[in-house]
Amino acid sequence: MFDRILIANRGEIACRVARTARRMGIHTIAVYSDVDAGALHVGACDEAHRLGPAAPRESYLRGDRIIEIAVASGAQAIHPGYGFLSENEAFAAAAAEAGLVFVGPPPAAIRAMGSKSESKDIMFKAGVRLVPGYHGVDQNDALLAREADGIGYPVLIKASAGGGGKGMRIVERGVDFAAALASARRGAKAGFGDDKMLLEKYLDEPRHIEMQVFADTHGHCVHLFERDCSVQRRHQKVLEEAPAPGMTRERRNEMGSAAVAAARAIGYVGAGTVEFIVDKTGLFHFMEMNTRLQVEHPVTEMIPGLALVEWQMRVAAGEPLPLLQEALDFYGHAIEARIYAEDPERGFLPSIGRIAYLAVPPVSEFVRIDTGVRAGDEISQFYDPMIAKLVAWGEDRASALRRLRSSLASYQVAGVTTNISFLQRVVAHPAFANARLDTGLIARHQTELLAPPAAPSPQILAVTAIGEFLRLVEEAQQQAQASEDRFSPWHDLDPWWLNSASHAISLTYLALGLTHEVRLRTNGGDILVSIAGAAGAAEVDLTATASRRAKGMAITLDGVQLSATVVPLGDQRYVFVDGQLQKFSLVDPLAHASVDEHRGGHLTAPMSGTIVAVLVKAGDAVAKGAPLIILEAMKMEHTIAAPAGGTVSAVHYRQGDQVSEGVDLIDVDATDVGASGAAASAA
Ligand code: ADP
Repeated sequence: MFDRILIANRGEIACRVARTARRMGIHTIAVYSDVDAGALHVGACDEAHRLGPAAPRESYLRGDRIIEIAVASGAQAIHPGYGFLSENEAFAAAAAEAGLVFVGPPPAAIRAMGSKSESKDIMFKAGVRLVPGYHGVDQNDALLAREADGIGYPVLIKASAGGGGKGMRIVERGVDFAAALASARRGAKAGFGDDKMLLEKYLDEPRHIEMQVFADTHGHCVHLFERDCSVQRRHQKVLEEAPAPGMTRERRNEMGSAAVAAARAIGYVGAGTVEFIVDKTGLFHFMEMNTRLQVEHPVTEMIPGLALVEWQMRVAAGEPLPLLQEALDFYGHAIEARIYAEDPERGFLPSIGRIAYLAVPPVSEFVRIDTGVRAGDEISQFYDPMIAKLVAWGEDRASALRRLRSSLASYQVAGVTTNISFLQRVVAHPAFANARLDTGLIARHQTELLAPPAAPSPQILAVTAIGEFLRLVEEAQQQAQASEDRFSPWHDLDPWWLNSASHAISLTYLALGLTHEVRLRTNGGDILVSIAGAAGAAEVDLTATASRRAKGMAITLDGVQLSATVVPLGDQRYVFVDGQLQKFSLVDPLAHASVDEHRGGHLTAPMSGTIVAVLVKAGDAVAKGAPLIILEAMKMEHTIAAPAGGTVSAVHYRQGDQVSEGVDLIDVDATDVGASGAAASAA
């Protein structure tokens, strides 16, 4: 076994690898970019070396630097994690040349599976069933169009070099094929530097089921059961679980054997995943093989109770697999939810910023959190905005689900927007609860899953205002402690304040475009709360008592006891009550910035990126919803569409321009009423 290992990654996976390595007594070496100098993964390792500036190509993708550091620091092996260099054949080869062990498959196996097209050839020869389609070398547009007609619509166009659910276009009708192909090629060129495309029959409501495989250098190859990753949003995994609901022993054996055959066909070594797409009849087809540790490997680890990273190290060090197929079994059920800094209401755009507040549910033998960030850390535009993977285990699916639900309810993040409420709705949805899984689940139920947040209840408003009140009291007490004057009334503010019948404060909050007035009055130990009825509703009066707790506060509202946390960030208030988050802005009556100043027809960049296409010019008449500009950011294209019909009055940027978040891109003089803001959608 190695004594020293370099971890060529960041975030949760670098932390996760470091944890296992340290447990095994292996000295761990981190690498970091400038923005990650104080990151969690750096502290998780025994030593750390700077790579360069934040941009991955100047840091985590600098294979040459990483190998140099590994050699200089005496590492014997490099663990690449996932993403970055993990599936980079040249890097794996260069590491070997420098005398380092690459913890992953041989370079030839990476190459064989690196292209979706070539891997299909290999699998076809190995007798593994493929989705009907075209994956030939000839990339002539007209030929592809003919092939698409032959396959029959709907057809899926995939970038051969694609990954992470990116670079795919569904085409419903032949007339749309040419435009979709052009857009797909553009995206693939920008995202993967390769515009080779393949076509597949687009299967209706399939399931994504993948098999974890493991091979050693002694000729053994096993599968570690399946993961069901059907719950996806735009072809990206949202929830993963093991085992797959409804999987029979026979089907598992069949899929496992196919996966092992796939791994053997390319001389695989180490941890890999063979992804299958399963049609409604239960027939499974090879989709691709990922030659690395998957993001969602914890669900596999939790059911047989194995450490895949430890297996990886053992295999890389030349040891045989710790267990062979007959000795492998699993127990219970595990479900993983991916917690992201992203905004479901804005097309799931990454939410860049500082995690100002973070409270996580308790971890135990049943609940696992793999994370790479802590409170105070920045979610930057440079890397994947994942905050954590939350994994729950139970004796059966229902108990795993219960634990996942309650853990999600106590996962609190403020400062960046997250998908936690969205995940809560998905796991609570009857389709998910009853395991009616397929890749269309989220899209089919999106009106419920993405329903706009409900108007705040009087209880939440009361909690928010009480939070404000307690904070004011606390600040006053601190002021008193700092005060020189020992006769200052601030010294015994608490009883004085609470007993002063005359004391009252009035606060105005803004949520979802509506203002809410809350008045608080103290009366003995009670707080009397009146909430002015918004939009014609009657005034609501509540009687409360409240006290600070180590975490948040305890409140009794008309006899109902709650625990709540109110996090103030500037004028923003993040209010966590009863497993739900509600956001408000505190309206400061003294500030002159008016809240309903509206931006007219100025369409702004929803995030920093590059303009890839300008589809209109000044003077053009546009219909509501017409695409105006395509912005590429975080490897995704975002279409800026007209919020209302009108005339384009100005276009501020050209194709190829870099823009930063919030700048005016284009102005539209609306002829329809009600125009405001940019409508952004991830394409
Ligand atoms: P990536 O490498 O980008 O993750 P995959 O080829 O693994 O791409 O596909 C990702 C997801 O796209 C699948 O899990 C599935 O939901 C969907 N998908 C892929 N191929 C098909 C297909 N032929 N028909 C229907 N859905 C598909």
